[in-house]
Amino acid sequence: MLVSPTPTLIREYRQLISAEKALQKRFSDELPLPAKTLDERRVHLYLNAGLLSSLASEIAEGADGIGLYRTEIPFMLQPRFPSESEQVEVYKQVLDAAIGRPVVMRTLDVGGDKPLSYLPIIEENPFLGWRGIRLTLDHPELFLVQLRAMLNASAARDQLHILLPMVCCLDEIDQAIAYLEQAYLEVKQDLHPHLVRPKIGIMLEVPALLFQLEEVAKRVDFVSVGSNDLTQYLLAVDRNNPRVSTLYDCYHPGILRALKHARIDCDKYQLPVSVCGELAGEPIGVILLVAMGYDQLSMNQGSLAKINYLIRRVSYADLSELLDKALSLTNGTEVRQLVTAYLKAAQLDEFL
Ligand code: PEP
Ligand code: MG
Repeated sequence: MLVSPTPTLIREYRQLISAEKALQKRFSDELPLPAKTLDERRVHLYLNAGLLSSLASEIAEGADGIGLYRTEIPFMLQPRFPSESEQVEVYKQVLDAAIGRPVVMRTLDVGGDKPLSYLPIIEENPFLGWRGIRLTLDHPELFLVQLRAMLNASAARDQLHILLPMVCCLDEIDQAIAYLEQAYLEVKQDLHPHLVRPKIGIMLEVPALLFQLEEVAKRVDFVSVGSNDLTQYLLAVDRNNPRVSTLYDCYHPGILRALKHARIDCDKYQLPVSVCGELAGEPIGVILLVAMGYDQLSMNQGSLAKINYLIRRVSYADLSELLDKALSLTNGTEVRQLVTAYLKAAQLDEFL
């Protein structure tokens, strides 16, 4: 905090604020235009969301849909498990906000860094413990209520995609699909005879699954790379521990190689893939992801207009060369320096 700042300092801060506002306006003016590279590669941009507030205007402002709706957020805001009908209301509002565009709803991803006050979990190693799909498969009564609520909210619309978090083995996918089928038949019979079957996908967060994409592709309709957790597990670095925060680096060339491998294998097995971790909303991350061929990115609302603007100013062909260089570097700092130099040379300094 600055006590009694000088008039010069106040003036400088005011200038910075108005420059930032002008920049944001330039970005948002272009949001209605499609995110297409200079050489016409279309990249679909989606929103990550968890709170209902302002979702409607965000979608209207140019996202291709909701790429990650974190259902644990409404669960965390309540003093108890929300009932099926309460969940239906929330999910309907999310689907409505997307005005017919796809919505990827993730089933409850609690545990690890996302506690529920009314479900205390005491573990020595919560990030390697009872989280995400592990917890819901152990509590089918919770899982089935949530699946039914999603299906009931969706009814005859074909927007709904259901995403399973923290999957580490194929059996979990098979079990979850069996529960989904049960919920689907129940809702169809009881409430909505014309119920549309949702698409089903998994988060790619646990490294072992990077090497089972062929089998994954036989089971699900899509995958979404959770680069936040994937980085944490590939580097064995707690994403929330400040002592090791300098080691938590999504630009580590080993992570980039893993992401490239995932993209290549998803292509090989015709498995649609998106990225929904923080990397997909960072200019340097987007440059590298687009270079790898990722064409579905899901990000926070604050990044959407900026990333759209950036994609419209780069050429996919140039980026491939940049990616080859990045993959051969020693560490994340060098990768950031390389992409920063590229952005400067392309006169895209506003992203730095
Ligand atoms: C991720 O792990 O990248 C992700 C998007 O999920 P969350 O951040 O909610 O764990
Ligand atoms: Mg995650």
